[in-house]
Amino acid sequence: MAPKSLILIVDDELFFREILQDALSGDYDIIEGKNGDEAISLALAHKPSLIIMDVEMPGRSGVDACKVLKDMDETAAIPLILLSARSRKDDLILGLQAGADDYFTKPMSIPEVTARVDAHLRTSDYYSELEHKDLLFLLELSENIAAIRNPMTILRLIVKKMAEIVDLTRCSIISINDRGEACVKASNDLKRNDEIKLELSRYPEISKSFESKQTIIVNDVKHDPLMDSVRQYIHELDYNSIVVIPIIKKESVIGTFFLRTSSPLKDGITLRVRKLCQLVANISANALENAILFESMKTAQEYFEEMAIRDGLTKLYNHRYFYNRLEEEFSRASRYGTPLSLVFFDIDNFKRVNDTFGHTNGDKVLAQIGSFMKKVARESDIAARYGGEEFALLLPNTPAAGALDVGTRLCTIIREHQFADLDGGKISISAGVSTYAADNLQAFEQLVKLADEAMYTAKKQGKDRILQA
Ligand code: GH3
Ligand code: MG
Ligand code: MG
Repeated sequence: MAPKSLILIVDDELFFREILQDALSGDYDIIEGKNGDEAISLALAHKPSLIIMDVEMPGRSGVDACKVLKDMDETAAIPLILLSARSRKDDLILGLQAGADDYFTKPMSIPEVTARVDAHLRTSDYYSELEHKDLLFLLELSENIAAIRNPMTILRLIVKKMAEIVDLTRCSIISINDRGEACVKASNDLKRNDEIKLELSRYPEISKSFESKQTIIVNDVKHDPLMDSVRQYIHELDYNSIVVIPIIKKESVIGTFFLRTSSPLKDGITLRVRKLCQLVANISANALENAILFESMKTAQEYFEEMAIRDGLTKLYNHRYFYNRLEEEFSRASRYGTPLSLVFFDIDNFKRVNDTFGHTNGDKVLAQIGSFMKKVARESDIAARYGGEEFALLLPNTPAAGALDVGTRLCTIIREHQFADLDGGKISISAGVSTYAADNLQAFEQLVKLADEAMYTAKKQGKDRILQA
């Protein structure tokens, strides 16, 4: 394996250093400092690939250390991400003016941290072409988005703001499903509820971006050969240049960010506009994914209810929902004298998976386990992510033998699967099964306790097995 990149984390608060450690230590080597002076000396001594630094620290502040680091030839090129409380916007802007490349506001979300760190390590000059007003714009846009729950409102806000900051005729966000059906989800010149289906064959630039997962730029619509096949439709159009940026979620393109300008932009499509679009396209990805989910629900109410009970990574039910349903199903079972079973499992040696393949790949494995659970579960079963890499499958109306059967099938599917994210490697699980039948238990907590104990015994006996309580 290639050697891991080194990341320097600087924060006076242990709590935030630990959060970042947890998020990043699987994929990167980490060194830590507690103030601005340590940041400078550690950066000079170790030449990290990236620095994440708190803005406000006792002694030399983060803003000050940022200035020093960005002024020294030895450290100027190291991407530097500032960390700040939402209320310290002025410090943040000072830091960005001093040359910081990016920022997180506390509390930060772990997926956001890992995604942005990955992005910086790939393209270390991420923000370099942006103007001060662009940075402010991005900061305010992500703050606004954080306050809005309706994904369609978020998409509409993004296109509206984007069209304002660069001189555009039209800015749209288009969803594309895996059958290649495209639909305009939001556009700065569309009314609230208009949704327009697009015939992709009429938009070679969008098709090309979708297929290649690349940004497509057409500087001059009337002469670019890419547009030859649709020339007859576009001769009287009032725009000149097009930028199409793929919106990517979990490695597939779920849509595109689509921009058109009437008069050619002053210097054509500049690097600044491209970068800004790329950043905004990244910001849109979550909202677009949610908007697609939103659409598949019958009502907004149903969507918000779904969001509150699902785990974001695996899309299984979350811990809280699991317990609510367990309590409900347990009382139903005792009232009607029907059996109720629980399969509880924990992935074997998952720490090693994270250490070897990184936390991000570990997460993909967890998501895959989620889809295996849905595959073996019936409509009436409740498949949940109980905790980090622990899962629970609640089986109403199912006696012990049936539960053991389902659990065994799940163990086998997982044991035999070659995980692409682990270079074709395999994993196993240890599972415990418990059953309520004929008044053998008094309370629903006992069902969990028994399954958990059986799982623990399975671990002790050598893992990769399922045991009945
Ligand atoms: P055992 O076979 O005894 O279960 O060993 P294990 O390595 O799986 O150890 P244990 O169950 O105690 O630890 C679980 C590990 O799973 C620790 C943590 O790093 C990892 N983990 C927990 N939640 C997540 C997550 O959301 N994503 C990823 N990638 N890893 C997680
Ligand atoms: Mg565990
Ligand atoms: Mg484990």
